[in-house]
Amino acid sequence: RILSIGSVNIDLTAYSPALPRAGETIHATRYATGLGGKGANQAAACARLAGAACGVALVGRVGKDAFGTQARESLSKFGTDCRWLSDDAGNGTGLALIGIDARGENCITVIGASNMAVDVGDLDRAQAAIAGARVVMLQLEIPMPAVIEAARRARAAGAIVLLDPAPAPHDGLPDALWAEIDVVTPNETETERLVGLRPRDAAQAADAGAALRAKGARAAVVKLGANGVYWCDATGSGFIHPFAVTAIDTVAAGDCFNAGLALSLSEGRPLGQAVRFAAACGALATTKRGAADAAPERAEVEALLLT
Ligand code: ADP
Repeated sequence: RILSIGSVNIDLTAYSPALPRAGETIHATRYATGLGGKGANQAAACARLAGAACGVALVGRVGKDAFGTQARESLSKFGTDCRWLSDDAGNGTGLALIGIDARGENCITVIGASNMAVDVGDLDRAQAAIAGARVVMLQLEIPMPAVIEAARRARAAGAIVLLDPAPAPHDGLPDALWAEIDVVTPNETETERLVGLRPRDAAQAADAGAALRAKGARAAVVKLGANGVYWCDATGSGFIHPFAVTAIDTVAAGDCFNAGLALSLSEGRPLGQAVRFAAACGALATTKRGAADAAPERAEVEALLLT
């Protein structure tokens, strides 16, 4: 079983010719609503990749409102097990208010809401799921104490702990979290916040990877977007060149990457192979619009891996 412990949002996206300035009211031409939040995106993408056979569950909170119902329905359509998703009586569901202009420029307000109330009680309720997990995916859109405790419990239960350090705090991560991480997967900006180096090529990514491991993570995967991905662990290191795709929307490429990494590691693959699978998932996600909606099926990934 694979678990994602993290955030759930509904994304409300307005498409308008220009973005509003302070005090201005503008009219959008259309809008869309969809599942968002890194915790939910990674769980949904992983459930789609894994198919019905492999249980992929999400631990987190939604509000007792229409957005919470929508999030649950959407997660279930992807095949995500929502048994450990709680209803928060005191807070609404997390929302991302997104404006996108004609040039694709965006402006986003995130309201963490129920995500910011995730605590140890949620982990207690999900203890059976954590105990049976092979891989646990974590991100940083719920309170840090909950992330640290989730990592600690997952590791104690023998699971492989993946941390997508997004959004990365400006002052890095607490040592208590570094100590529990099996694989940390930052992009360029996040790498800079965690170790003070902004990697632009494979050699710089190798330096950054070593610095990430020196912090305490057992393995590091440094994502360079369209420039490929570097990995290193105790057994070795490697660089995966980007898969050639026609990217139209890079939203959630990182979430689909992490979903693929979790699935492949849960099948017992060594890190290098799992990163290659993940890179194919990330590349395919850029060829479709949307967040979790852009997640590929496994057959598409296998086909791209043969190229
Ligand atoms: P994040 O969304 O976390 O910033 P990236 O933008 O680095 O992450 O994308 C995650 C992964 O998706 C990359 O490491 C790469 O494997 C894949 N990817 C992203 N953009 C492209 C692209 N234009 N072409 C091919 N692969 C891509």
